[in-house]
Formats: sequence, C-alpha cells, structure tokens
Amino acid sequence: MSESADSGVLPAPESTSLEVMAHLKTGKCTTVELIRHYLKYLETIGRDLGAAVEILSDSALAAAQESDTRRASGKPLGCLEGVPFTAKMNIATREGTTDAASGMLRGFAASEDSTAVARLRAEGAILVGKSNCDEFAMGASNESSHHGVVHNPWDRDRVPGGSSGGAAALAGSFGWAFHLGSDTGGSIRQPAAFCGATGMKPTWGRVSRRGLVAFGSSLDQIGPLTRDARDAQLVLSVMEGRDPLDATSQSFNPSETSSMKRIGLVSEGLTEAIAPEIRQRTVEVVERLKKMGHEVVEVSLGTLSKANACYQVIATAEASSNLARFDGIHTGQRVQSEDLEELYSKSRRQGFGAEVRRRIMLGTFVLSSGYIDAYYGKAQQVRREIRQEMLSALDKVDSLMMPVSPFAPFRIGERVSDPLALYACDILTVTANLAGVPAVAIPCGFDSEGLPIGLQWMGKHGDDHRLLDLATSLQDQDDSWRGLPPGGSQ
Ligand code: GLN
Repeated sequence: MSESADSGVLPAPESTSLEVMAHLKTGKCTTVELIRHYLKYLETIGRDLGAAVEILSDSALAAAQESDTRRASGKPLGCLEGVPFTAKMNIATREGTTDAASGMLRGFAASEDSTAVARLRAEGAILVGKSNCDEFAMGASNESSHHGVVHNPWDRDRVPGGSSGGAAALAGSFGWAFHLGSDTGGSIRQPAAFCGATGMKPTWGRVSRRGLVAFGSSLDQIGPLTRDARDAQLVLSVMEGRDPLDATSQSFNPSETSSMKRIGLVSEGLTEAIAPEIRQRTVEVVERLKKMGHEVVEVSLGTLSKANACYQVIATAEASSNLARFDGIHTGQRVQSEDLEELYSKSRRQGFGAEVRRRIMLGTFVLSSGYIDAYYGKAQQVRREIRQEMLSALDKVDSLMMPVSPFAPFRIGERVSDPLALYACDILTVTANLAGVPAVAIPCGFDSEGLPIGLQWMGKHGDDHRLLDLATSLQDQDDSWRGLPPGGSQ
C-alpha cells in the first residue's frame, strides 16, 4: 500500500508520531493524505491482525481536513497536530462503540469522550479507530474478546499479549500513530513487549480514569503504546493531570530533571523461571547501561513471589464489585424473562464470557462473609508489604529493572484453556500496579525465533517522565526497535 491516490510524499512506515509531525510541518503531504493512508493500513493489516475492530473513517477525515485548514490559515496548532491515534475498546469515545470487547456491552455508544481522549483531541490528535482487547481487559493473550483473537504481527500464529493486544499489534506493525491502552496488572507493558512496542503504565492517579470501563479501580491506569519513549513522553504529558471529574486523579509536580543514575536489577526477575534468552538479553542491557555511565546494583524484591496471588484476589474482588452494575436492568444486555431472578442470571450468563464470569465468581467469593478476612483482608496486608518493600528499594536506587514477561509470545490456543497458565504471564507486571508506581516497557531486541523481548523499568510515584527519559536514552543507543515485522507495513 505504498502508492497513494494523492500527490504528497508520505513519511516512512516506521516513523514515530514526532517524526510524522515534523513531516507534516514541511508540507510534504497533507494531513488528509496521511490519515487516508493510515485508514487504509487499518482496513487491511489492522483488520487482518484482528487488531482494529472499528475504523472511524468519516470523523477522522473530517478532523484531518480541519487540521489542514488550521495549518493553511496560520492558526495555532496543537502539540499532537495531525497525529493519528486509536483507543482501546474499554475507553469511551464519542464516535464508534465502547463495548469493552464484551457481548454485555454490544453496540454501546458512549455519549462523550473519556478525559484522556478529549485532552488528546484538544491538542490536534486524530482518533482513527478502536482497538481490540480482552473482554473487560481481563486477560494476557487477547483471546477472550467477543471480536475474536488478535494475531502477533511478528508471528501470526502467536498471541500479541493482552489485554491491550490490539493496540500493541498496531503499535508493533506500523509507525505514525499512538495507541491508548489500559493497564491493571500489565495489560499495556506485556503486549507491548510481545509486539515490539513501547508501553507506559503511569503512576496510579496521574491520568484520569473518567471514561475508562472499570476493572480493578485501585489498579487501573490508561497509558500509551507507541513506537518509542519520546512519543510516550509527549502523549502522557498531554493526558496527565488532575481532572475534576475523577476525584482520584492528581497532578504531579514537574518532574526533577536529574537523570536516573542508579538502577536496581531485580534478582527475582532473573531466576530459572524466566526464559534463558530473556535473562541473557537483560544482562546485555545491564552492560549497555553501565557503558552509558549508570551504576547497576542487584536488588531483591522478596515480595515478588506473593504479588500474583495478591493481585488475583484484589483484582477479582474489585472486578466483581465494578461489574455488578451489568445486570440487564441498570445497564448491559437484557435477556427477557417474567422471572426477575432468571432475568438477572440469564442476562449475566449470556452477556459475559467465561473468563469474566470466572473472575466475578472468584471476586464474590473472596469478599463473601466468612472468607473476606482470610482472602481480601489478607491480600490488602500483603499489598501494603509489597508497596513498602518497593518504596524502600526505590529509596536506594532511582529505578528498578526486570523483564516484562517470563517467556516469549506463545501460540494462539496454547494456554487459553488453562487459566493458571495465563495468570502466570503476570508475575513480573502486577507489582507495579499493586504499588501504584509508574513502569515503562521498551523493546530490547529479539530472541532466536525472531520474537520481540521487552524489559521494564519502575520508578517512584510521580517519576514517570524520568523513567521515559531513561527509556529514551536507551533507545537512542540501540535502534533495533525501529524495525517493522516482515509484511507488517505492506
Ligand atoms: N493479565 C492481567 C489480567 O488478566 C492484566 C490485565 C490488565 O492489566 N488489564 O488480569
């Protein structure tokens, strides 16, 4: 799809959003030409991958036309002027649907944009589509969506990770755009790692959750999936900050400019449980960091072994409460029945998929009288311990580093019938959500099968931009992240 019906010269397929803006500024192509080409990519590769579930051509082309007019008339331009972006199916947008990839919300059209989307549009970014994800963002393989599975652009027989699998497959297969995902226990970072993209989970509260379909409210954050950390930096700076419509949102002081000198390598992230090639790559990146002048010390996070169990209790408890509203009466699909109880149970049974039902049952159980202290109460204690350990480690080092996933992207269908095997994907990512700290995942090369490997860095609350600076300096040293998968940009 390299030829264009228009006369402009388009940016190279692997270009970042910042490079696309520089390109538009030179006048080599118009925003309409750029967006038209990107829409074509979504219609072909995006659909083929199962990643783009809704393509908002009319509104996107109209916005592109307005942007061209603004530019031509010398009016002030936004800091994301003309850049295409997509939102995950659980993020409200005034065009298209917001069904959280669930039959329960089939056809649901939000009346307004989420705050994050509204802020991006106000800076000139152009919403081009909605991306596939696991149902209600519950999953690590994007196999539970009622829109079908998503394929990894590096090997189409493999999963893209989840739950923001659609966003990651798009970010990993073509440049120009940025993509909004959500991360409750790793759903931005793990798919980014599987697809060769950069993914940022901000400090909890930094980005408004207004308009995000709630899963585990004390863990959820919206964040960007991009080509590189510079793009993530820009997108985050536009979305972040206090929103009067989300009482838990807050502005953080402008970040310190000092760089992250001391890095802690988490020793529990390098055990036998982690694939040898991922360990090997981690050690290589440590060497690179040392050459760049960083001090790297080993740090132990003993609570890492408890994090996944703790997460499963807290996330399912919060999900069971958040999803209680989908009962066919207050909201959600209704199955008609004369009997009220049957109406509830049939609506919920038919509206929700198997994984969501499993989590609601688990969450209801851990909150139920007689069990709440043993499970939910205990998990809250463990969560405090995890946070405490993380914060005292971050008193000694600026950032903590470890792999994102213990293994490479697996085959579609390989784990889907074994929930515990899927939950094992999250062992290295949930800690950041439980502690509320920011974490960025960046691509760090490929394994011997040509599959991307991602590593992550966590920082203190509010250190988001310092983390992204660190990620940028690493990406400036090694541009292997620039490559696109074969066939990805055709
Ligand atoms: N894989 C994790 C889960 O299934 C994370 C999900 C998420 O971050 N939304 O719970």
